[in-house]
Amino acid sequence: MDLTARIYIAGHRGMVGSALVRRLRAAGYTNLLLRTSQELDLRNQAAVEQFFAAEQPEYVLLAAAKVGGIQANNVYRADFLQDNLLIQCNVIGASHRHGVRKLLFLGSSCIYPKLAPQPIKEEYLLTGPLEPTNEPYALAKIAGLKLCEAYRDQHGSSFITAMPTNLYGPNDNYDLHSSHVLPALLRKFTEAVQLGMPQVEVWGSGTPRREFLHVDDLADACLHLLLHYDGREPVNVGTGQDLTIRELAELVAQLTGFTGRLVFDPSKPDGTPRKLLDVSKLHALGWKHRIELTEGVRQVLAEATSLANAPVL
Ligand code: GDP
Repeated sequence: MDLTARIYIAGHRGMVGSALVRRLRAAGYTNLLLRTSQELDLRNQAAVEQFFAAEQPEYVLLAAAKVGGIQANNVYRADFLQDNLLIQCNVIGASHRHGVRKLLFLGSSCIYPKLAPQPIKEEYLLTGPLEPTNEPYALAKIAGLKLCEAYRDQHGSSFITAMPTNLYGPNDNYDLHSSHVLPALLRKFTEAVQLGMPQVEVWGSGTPRREFLHVDDLADACLHLLLHYDGREPVNVGTGQDLTIRELAELVAQLTGFTGRLVFDPSKPDGTPRKLLDVSKLHALGWKHRIELTEGVRQVLAEATSLANAPVL
Protein backbone atom coordinates (compact mmCIF):
# COMPACT_ATOMS: atom_id res chain seq x y z
CA MET A 1 0.00 0.00 0.00
CA ASP A 2 1.65 3.16 -1.30
CA LEU A 3 1.87 6.06 1.18
CA THR A 4 -0.07 8.20 -1.34
CA ALA A 5 -2.76 5.53 -1.97
CA ARG A 6 -6.32 6.82 -1.83
CA ILE A 7 -7.71 5.25 1.34
CA TYR A 8 -11.36 5.73 2.29
CA ILE A 9 -12.07 5.32 6.01
CA ALA A 10 -15.83 4.95 6.37
CA GLY A 11 -16.91 6.04 9.84
CA HIS A 12 -13.89 8.20 10.68
CA ARG A 13 -15.72 10.14 13.39
CA GLY A 14 -16.40 7.01 15.41
CA MET A 15 -14.14 5.40 18.00
CA VAL A 16 -12.75 2.82 15.54
CA GLY A 17 -12.59 5.07 12.48
CA SER A 18 -10.83 7.88 14.33
CA ALA A 19 -8.27 5.39 15.69
CA LEU A 20 -7.67 4.16 12.11
CA VAL A 21 -7.08 7.74 10.97
CA ARG A 22 -4.55 8.29 13.78
CA ARG A 23 -2.75 5.03 12.99
CA LEU A 24 -2.59 5.56 9.22
CA ARG A 25 -1.40 9.15 9.60
CA ALA A 26 1.28 8.03 12.04
CA ALA A 27 2.41 5.45 9.46
CA GLY A 28 2.75 8.20 6.85
CA TYR A 29 -0.35 7.70 4.70
CA THR A 30 -1.27 11.10 3.30
CA ASN A 31 -4.27 10.54 1.07
CA LEU A 32 -7.10 9.67 3.43
CA LEU A 33 -10.63 10.15 2.12
CA LEU A 34 -13.01 11.13 4.91
CA ARG A 35 -16.71 12.04 4.93
CA THR A 36 -18.95 12.69 7.91
CA SER A 37 -22.39 11.08 7.95
CA GLN A 38 -23.87 14.52 7.27
CA GLU A 39 -21.73 14.80 4.13
CA LEU A 40 -22.36 11.23 2.98
CA ASP A 41 -25.24 9.09 4.26
CA LEU A 42 -23.94 5.57 3.70
CA ARG A 43 -27.50 4.20 3.81
CA ASN A 44 -28.15 6.05 0.55
CA GLN A 45 -26.93 3.91 -2.34
CA ALA A 46 -27.02 6.68 -4.96
CA ALA A 47 -24.94 8.97 -2.74
CA VAL A 48 -22.39 6.20 -2.08
CA GLU A 49 -22.07 5.42 -5.80
CA GLN A 50 -21.55 9.08 -6.57
CA PHE A 51 -18.84 9.36 -3.92
CA PHE A 52 -16.96 6.30 -5.21
CA ALA A 53 -17.24 7.49 -8.84
CA ALA A 54 -15.88 10.92 -7.94
CA GLU A 55 -13.15 9.93 -5.46
CA GLN A 56 -12.05 6.49 -6.80
CA PRO A 57 -10.73 5.08 -3.51
CA GLU A 58 -8.10 2.36 -3.89
CA TYR A 59 -8.47 0.97 -0.37
CA VAL A 60 -11.54 0.95 1.86
CA LEU A 61 -11.69 0.46 5.64
CA LEU A 62 -15.31 -0.09 6.56
CA ALA A 63 -15.64 1.09 10.17
CA ALA A 64 -19.01 2.80 9.73
CA ALA A 65 -21.85 1.13 11.59
CA LYS A 66 -24.73 1.77 13.90
CA VAL A 67 -23.34 0.50 17.21
CA GLY A 68 -24.31 0.43 20.85
CA GLY A 69 -24.33 -1.48 24.11
CA ILE A 70 -26.63 -4.24 25.25
CA GLN A 71 -29.63 -1.98 25.87
CA ALA A 72 -29.51 0.03 22.63
CA ASN A 73 -29.05 -3.16 20.59
CA ASN A 74 -32.02 -4.74 22.31
CA VAL A 75 -34.37 -1.74 22.00
CA TYR A 76 -33.57 -0.36 18.52
CA ARG A 77 -33.57 -3.79 16.91
CA ALA A 78 -34.96 -2.77 13.53
CA ASP A 79 -32.54 0.18 13.19
CA PHE A 80 -29.50 -1.95 14.05
CA LEU A 81 -30.40 -4.56 11.44
CA GLN A 82 -31.57 -2.25 8.67
CA ASP A 83 -28.99 0.56 8.90
CA ASN A 84 -26.07 -1.83 9.11
CA LEU A 85 -27.27 -3.95 6.18
CA LEU A 86 -27.69 -0.84 4.04
CA ILE A 87 -24.29 0.64 4.95
CA GLN A 88 -22.50 -2.63 4.20
CA CYS A 89 -24.28 -3.45 0.96
CA ASN A 90 -23.70 0.05 -0.37
CA VAL A 91 -20.02 0.34 0.58
CA ILE A 92 -18.98 -3.24 -0.25
CA GLY A 93 -20.94 -3.22 -3.52
CA ALA A 94 -19.54 0.16 -4.58
CA SER A 95 -16.03 -1.04 -3.73
CA HIS A 96 -16.48 -3.89 -6.18
CA ARG A 97 -18.07 -1.75 -8.89
CA HIS A 98 -15.39 0.94 -8.66
CA GLY A 99 -12.38 -1.36 -8.62
CA VAL A 100 -11.20 -0.98 -5.02
CA ARG A 101 -7.96 -2.95 -4.62
CA LYS A 102 -8.53 -4.07 -1.05
CA LEU A 103 -11.29 -3.67 1.50
CA LEU A 104 -11.31 -4.40 5.23
CA PHE A 105 -14.70 -5.04 6.82
CA LEU A 106 -14.99 -4.82 10.59
CA GLY A 107 -17.38 -7.23 12.25
CA SER A 108 -17.79 -8.03 15.92
CA SER A 109 -17.32 -10.88 18.37
CA CYS A 110 -21.12 -10.95 18.89
CA ILE A 111 -21.51 -12.73 15.54
CA TYR A 112 -20.58 -16.02 17.23
CA PRO A 113 -23.13 -18.36 18.81
CA LYS A 114 -24.26 -17.41 22.32
CA LEU A 115 -22.96 -20.67 23.76
CA ALA A 116 -19.90 -21.15 21.56
CA PRO A 117 -17.02 -23.13 23.12
CA GLN A 118 -14.42 -20.76 24.61
CA PRO A 119 -12.12 -19.30 23.45
CA ILE A 120 -14.04 -18.75 20.22
CA LYS A 121 -12.34 -19.84 17.01
CA GLU A 122 -13.28 -18.25 13.69
CA GLU A 123 -14.73 -21.54 12.45
CA TYR A 124 -17.44 -21.57 15.16
CA LEU A 125 -19.41 -19.02 13.13
CA LEU A 126 -22.96 -20.20 12.35
CA THR A 127 -22.75 -23.32 14.49
CA GLY A 128 -25.52 -22.31 16.94
CA PRO A 129 -28.16 -19.72 17.92
CA LEU A 130 -27.10 -16.10 18.55
CA GLU A 131 -27.43 -14.09 21.78
CA PRO A 132 -30.97 -12.60 21.51
CA THR A 133 -30.10 -9.10 22.85
CA ASN A 134 -27.87 -8.31 19.88
CA GLU A 135 -29.16 -10.73 17.25
CA PRO A 136 -30.17 -7.99 14.74
CA TYR A 137 -26.72 -6.35 14.86
CA ALA A 138 -24.98 -9.73 14.71
CA LEU A 139 -27.05 -10.85 11.72
CA ALA A 140 -26.11 -7.68 9.85
CA LYS A 141 -22.42 -8.22 10.63
CA ILE A 142 -22.60 -11.88 9.55
CA ALA A 143 -24.21 -10.76 6.28
CA GLY A 144 -21.40 -8.23 5.80
CA LEU A 145 -18.64 -10.75 6.25
CA LYS A 146 -20.43 -13.27 4.02
CA LEU A 147 -20.83 -10.55 1.37
CA CYS A 148 -17.05 -10.01 1.43
CA GLU A 149 -16.50 -13.76 1.09
CA ALA A 150 -19.03 -13.93 -1.75
CA TYR A 151 -17.33 -11.11 -3.69
CA ARG A 152 -14.01 -12.91 -3.25
CA ASP A 153 -15.57 -16.20 -4.46
CA GLN A 154 -17.45 -14.70 -7.41
CA HIS A 155 -15.10 -11.92 -8.52
CA GLY A 156 -11.75 -12.57 -6.83
CA SER A 157 -12.05 -9.40 -4.73
CA SER A 158 -9.41 -8.81 -2.03
CA PHE A 159 -12.03 -8.17 0.64
CA ILE A 160 -10.92 -9.22 4.13
CA THR A 161 -12.80 -9.28 7.44
CA ALA A 162 -11.69 -8.72 11.04
CA MET A 163 -13.79 -9.54 14.11
CA PRO A 164 -12.82 -7.33 17.05
CA THR A 165 -13.72 -8.11 20.63
CA ASN A 166 -15.27 -5.44 22.93
CA LEU A 167 -13.41 -2.18 22.32
CA TYR A 168 -12.70 0.92 24.38
CA GLY A 169 -10.65 4.08 23.96
CA PRO A 170 -10.82 7.74 22.89
CA ASN A 171 -14.10 8.93 21.31
CA ASP A 172 -16.11 6.24 23.04
CA ASN A 173 -19.82 6.69 23.75
CA TYR A 174 -20.49 7.66 27.39
CA ASP A 175 -24.28 7.91 27.11
CA LEU A 176 -25.47 5.56 29.86
CA HIS A 177 -28.45 4.31 27.82
CA SER A 178 -26.55 3.35 24.70
CA SER A 179 -22.93 2.80 25.79
CA HIS A 180 -21.04 -0.41 26.34
CA VAL A 181 -20.11 -1.53 29.82
CA LEU A 182 -16.60 -0.07 30.16
CA PRO A 183 -17.39 3.57 29.28
CA ALA A 184 -20.58 3.28 31.36
CA LEU A 185 -18.61 2.14 34.40
CA LEU A 186 -15.92 4.78 33.89
CA ARG A 187 -18.58 7.46 33.90
CA LYS A 188 -20.61 6.04 36.79
CA PHE A 189 -17.61 5.57 39.09
CA THR A 190 -16.07 8.93 38.22
CA GLU A 191 -19.35 10.70 38.96
CA ALA A 192 -19.85 8.73 42.16
CA VAL A 193 -16.44 9.85 43.42
CA GLN A 194 -17.07 13.48 42.47
CA LEU A 195 -20.52 13.53 44.04
CA GLY A 196 -19.55 11.45 47.08
CA MET A 197 -22.17 8.79 46.31
CA PRO A 198 -22.09 5.69 48.58
CA GLN A 199 -22.92 3.12 45.86
CA VAL A 200 -22.70 2.46 42.13
CA GLU A 201 -25.20 0.39 40.17
CA VAL A 202 -23.82 -2.31 37.87
CA TRP A 203 -26.20 -4.00 35.43
CA GLY A 204 -26.93 -7.71 35.54
CA SER A 205 -25.37 -10.30 37.85
CA GLY A 206 -21.72 -9.33 37.40
CA THR A 207 -20.86 -12.91 36.40
CA PRO A 208 -20.65 -12.59 32.56
CA ARG A 209 -17.08 -12.55 31.28
CA ARG A 210 -15.86 -10.08 28.67
CA GLU A 211 -12.60 -9.35 26.85
CA PHE A 212 -11.52 -5.75 26.15
CA LEU A 213 -9.15 -4.36 23.53
CA HIS A 214 -7.91 -0.76 23.30
CA VAL A 215 -9.00 0.73 20.00
CA ASP A 216 -5.43 1.86 19.21
CA ASP A 217 -4.42 -1.79 19.31
CA LEU A 218 -7.32 -2.63 16.99
CA ALA A 219 -6.22 0.07 14.53
CA ASP A 220 -2.69 -1.30 14.58
CA ALA A 221 -4.03 -4.83 13.94
CA CYS A 222 -6.14 -3.55 11.02
CA LEU A 223 -3.11 -1.99 9.35
CA HIS A 224 -1.18 -5.20 9.92
CA LEU A 225 -3.95 -7.25 8.29
CA LEU A 226 -4.25 -4.84 5.35
CA LEU A 227 -0.54 -5.20 4.71
CA HIS A 228 -0.07 -8.89 5.47
CA TYR A 229 -3.35 -10.80 5.08
CA ASP A 230 -5.42 -11.59 2.02
CA GLY A 231 -7.49 -14.60 3.05
CA ARG A 232 -11.15 -15.50 2.79
CA GLU A 233 -11.64 -16.38 6.47
CA PRO A 234 -12.39 -13.75 9.14
CA VAL A 235 -9.64 -12.98 11.66
CA ASN A 236 -10.45 -12.50 15.36
CA VAL A 237 -8.84 -9.44 16.97
CA GLY A 238 -8.56 -9.45 20.75
CA THR A 239 -6.20 -9.95 23.66
CA GLY A 240 -7.11 -13.55 24.44
CA GLN A 241 -7.76 -12.52 28.09
CA ASP A 242 -11.08 -11.84 29.81
CA LEU A 243 -12.52 -11.02 33.24
CA THR A 244 -15.94 -10.94 34.91
CA ILE A 245 -18.06 -7.79 34.92
CA ARG A 246 -17.65 -7.75 38.72
CA GLU A 247 -13.85 -7.82 38.34
CA LEU A 248 -14.07 -5.08 35.74
CA ALA A 249 -16.21 -2.95 38.08
CA GLU A 250 -13.70 -3.55 40.89
CA LEU A 251 -10.84 -2.49 38.60
CA VAL A 252 -12.63 0.72 37.60
CA ALA A 253 -13.51 1.39 41.26
CA GLN A 254 -9.85 1.02 42.20
CA LEU A 255 -8.57 3.24 39.37
CA THR A 256 -11.12 5.97 40.08
CA GLY A 257 -10.61 5.81 43.84
CA PHE A 258 -14.20 4.73 44.56
CA THR A 259 -14.49 3.03 47.96
CA GLY A 260 -18.27 2.61 48.22
CA ARG A 261 -20.49 -0.38 47.42
CA LEU A 262 -21.29 -2.10 44.11
CA VAL A 263 -24.99 -2.87 43.68
CA PHE A 264 -25.95 -5.36 40.98
CA ASP A 265 -29.24 -4.78 39.16
CA PRO A 266 -30.67 -8.15 38.05
CA SER A 267 -33.48 -6.45 36.10
CA LYS A 268 -30.91 -5.58 33.42
CA PRO A 269 -29.82 -8.30 30.95
CA ASP A 270 -26.54 -10.21 31.34
CA GLY A 271 -26.25 -10.98 27.65
CA THR A 272 -23.99 -13.79 26.57
CA PRO A 273 -22.24 -15.53 29.50
CA ARG A 274 -18.77 -15.40 27.94
CA LYS A 275 -17.26 -13.98 24.77
CA LEU A 276 -13.52 -14.67 24.65
CA LEU A 277 -11.90 -14.77 21.24
CA ASP A 278 -9.30 -17.30 20.20
CA VAL A 279 -6.60 -15.09 18.72
CA SER A 280 -4.14 -17.78 17.67
CA LYS A 281 -4.71 -17.03 13.99
CA LEU A 282 -3.88 -13.35 14.52
CA HIS A 283 -0.80 -14.27 16.56
CA ALA A 284 0.30 -16.63 13.77
CA LEU A 285 -0.01 -13.69 11.36
CA GLY A 286 2.56 -11.85 13.51
CA TRP A 287 0.43 -9.48 15.58
CA LYS A 288 -0.21 -9.27 19.33
CA HIS A 289 -1.87 -6.56 21.45
CA ARG A 290 0.34 -4.14 23.39
CA ILE A 291 -1.98 -2.18 25.69
CA GLU A 292 -2.98 -4.14 28.81
CA LEU A 293 -6.40 -3.40 30.29
CA THR A 294 -5.25 -1.58 33.44
CA GLU A 295 -2.95 0.71 31.47
CA GLY A 296 -5.60 1.34 28.80
CA VAL A 297 -8.29 2.16 31.34
CA ARG A 298 -5.92 4.61 33.04
CA GLN A 299 -5.39 6.29 29.65
CA VAL A 300 -9.08 6.81 28.96
CA LEU A 301 -9.99 7.83 32.50
CA ALA A 302 -8.97 11.40 31.81
CA GLU A 303 -11.53 11.53 29.00
CA ALA A 304 -14.28 10.13 31.23
CA THR A 305 -13.38 12.57 33.98
CA SER A 306 -13.88 15.51 31.65
CA LEU A 307 -17.41 14.23 30.91
CA ALA A 308 -18.33 13.71 34.54
CA ASN A 309 -19.79 17.18 34.90
CA ALA A 310 -22.39 16.45 32.23
CA PRO A 311 -25.85 15.66 33.65
CA VAL A 312 -26.51 11.99 34.40
CA LEU A 313 -28.63 10.64 31.52
P1 GDP B 1 -22.41 -6.93 25.35
O1 GDP B 1 -20.95 -7.27 25.47
O2 GDP B 1 -22.93 -6.99 23.96
O3 GDP B 1 -23.25 -7.75 26.30
O4 GDP B 1 -22.59 -5.37 25.71
P2 GDP B 1 -22.26 -4.41 26.94
O5 GDP B 1 -20.86 -3.96 26.92
O6 GDP B 1 -23.31 -3.33 26.88
O7 GDP B 1 -22.55 -5.25 28.27
C1 GDP B 1 -21.64 -6.21 28.76
C2 GDP B 1 -22.05 -6.72 30.14
O8 GDP B 1 -21.85 -5.67 31.10
C3 GDP B 1 -23.51 -7.13 30.26
O9 GDP B 1 -23.56 -8.28 31.09
C4 GDP B 1 -24.14 -5.93 30.98
O10 GDP B 1 -25.31 -6.26 31.70
C5 GDP B 1 -22.99 -5.54 31.92
N1 GDP B 1 -23.08 -4.18 32.47
C6 GDP B 1 -22.93 -3.85 33.78
N2 GDP B 1 -23.14 -2.54 33.99
C7 GDP B 1 -23.38 -1.99 32.76
C8 GDP B 1 -23.66 -0.67 32.32
O11 GDP B 1 -23.74 0.28 33.11
N3 GDP B 1 -23.83 -0.49 30.98
C9 GDP B 1 -23.75 -1.53 30.08
N4 GDP B 1 -23.92 -1.29 28.77
N5 GDP B 1 -23.53 -2.81 30.47
C10 GDP B 1 -23.34 -3.04 31.80
